[in-house]
Amino acid sequence: MNPPHAVIAGAGIGGLSTALSLARVGWRVSLYEKAKVLEESGAGLQLSPNASAILRNLGVLEHLTPFALCPEAIRIRRARDGATLALMPLESAEKRWGAPYLVVHRADLQRALLETVAREGSITLQTGAAVAGFAPSSGGVAVAIAQGAVRLKVAGDCLIGADGLRSYVRQRLHADALRFSGRTAWRATIEAARVPVAMRRKETNLWLGRKAHLVHYPLRGGAIVNVVAIVDEDFHPDEKEFWSSPGEPGFLEARFVRWDKTARDLLRAALAWQKWPLADRNPAASFVAGRVALMGDAAHPMLPFLAQGAAQAIEDAGVLGEVLARGQTIEAGLLAYQEKRLPRAVRVQRESRQQATIYHLGGPAAFLRDAALRALGPEKMLARYDWLYDVHHAKSHQF
Ligand SMILES: Cc1cc2nc3c(=O)[nH]c(=O)nc-3n(C[C@H](O)[C@H](O)[C@H](O)COP(=O)(O)OP(=O)(O)OC[C@H]3O[C@@H](n4cnc5c(N)ncnc54)[C@H](O)[C@@H]3O)c2cc1C
Repeated sequence: MNPPHAVIAGAGIGGLSTALSLARVGWRVSLYEKAKVLEESGAGLQLSPNASAILRNLGVLEHLTPFALCPEAIRIRRARDGATLALMPLESAEKRWGAPYLVVHRADLQRALLETVAREGSITLQTGAAVAGFAPSSGGVAVAIAQGAVRLKVAGDCLIGADGLRSYVRQRLHADALRFSGRTAWRATIEAARVPVAMRRKETNLWLGRKAHLVHYPLRGGAIVNVVAIVDEDFHPDEKEFWSSPGEPGFLEARFVRWDKTARDLLRAALAWQKWPLADRNPAASFVAGRVALMGDAAHPMLPFLAQGAAQAIEDAGVLGEVLARGQTIEAGLLAYQEKRLPRAVRVQRESRQQATIYHLGGPAAFLRDAALRALGPEKMLARYDWLYDVHHAKSHQF
């Protein structure tokens, strides 16, 4: 009997992970990627244990670990003077949550995924090929692929829309629009030698200020420092676009003028900024229609304030492999995927939004937040993330 065949739209972190997850349970996978060349932005990614556990099962982690870094702690700091408000030690992360907490360069993760995909004879990856149409066909899905001027028709047993924030597949299933969240993310990677020594610690740092926050952590054994500055901004990107563009450093200089000097020195050390308008969507009522399923940013785009977008895409991939391995119909398998993933992904989407409000407080509300953070202590800080990071919670979907 021929193995079942999945067509996947999009070869981002979500699509590549799903291809591996399905190949592991005996599926043949055709991955179509719109971009001619697979490139990842020169930026970092926090990979929490709920995601690194799945990458380990998929055989990806072994290709990534040599380039990844385990931060010793997450330090939350006050913008005004750099005072530490809370310290979440990560030395026992793997023991507590079942897998390591890593920070990686996106390009390294993409390379590790591609290397693992290349070893799977049952996966084919076609770049410069966009999913441009689909319709139910006898016992499956007929998918139209646009490759330049050429149009192909491919028959799949199911179609997985892993085509990101501006998903074509989602557009066909839901009539909802992307909207600007009112915040922009400014990203830079800086050679460690240019960064103030105090800012090179093996920690993830989160600075909280009024209407802005700052995240930075070292990458590639500490050779570079990844910086993301997020600011509330009265800015009106073209609603259909939301692409990144070079950012004007003078803008950040002005916005962070009241921040502690070490933070300002870090921002000044960046040679170039890339500015991303952060888009948002309301949670979807469903991820699945018959033999078509959405995953990753296509299913649940989220603001990056819990650093979970890629992690949740990887969780989707893990569950898709589980449910489609079982002896049930593909439709039933995809519904089981939705049942397992939708409530959790929507909770993460909602909490990410809420996090933005808390991070950007000012005045007395910020004072109260800071006092609450100070009172927490390391154990309570860790416990706050158990529902999200713990491999067993993520798997059993009890949250
Ligand atoms: C500032 C910032 C910081 C972040 N930090 C973190 C973090 O620390 N940790 C974390 O887990 N997440 C983080 N994220 C989120 C994370 O980057 C995304 O959630 C994740 O990359 C989504 O992966 P994806 O595969 O679903 O989508 P994408 O990476 O967008 O991939 C979709 C792919 O589909 C392709 N495509 C589009 N349309 C078609 C089509 N019609 N046919 C074929 N291919 C198509 C695209 O070219 C693309 O390659 C952050 C995001 C931002 C903006």
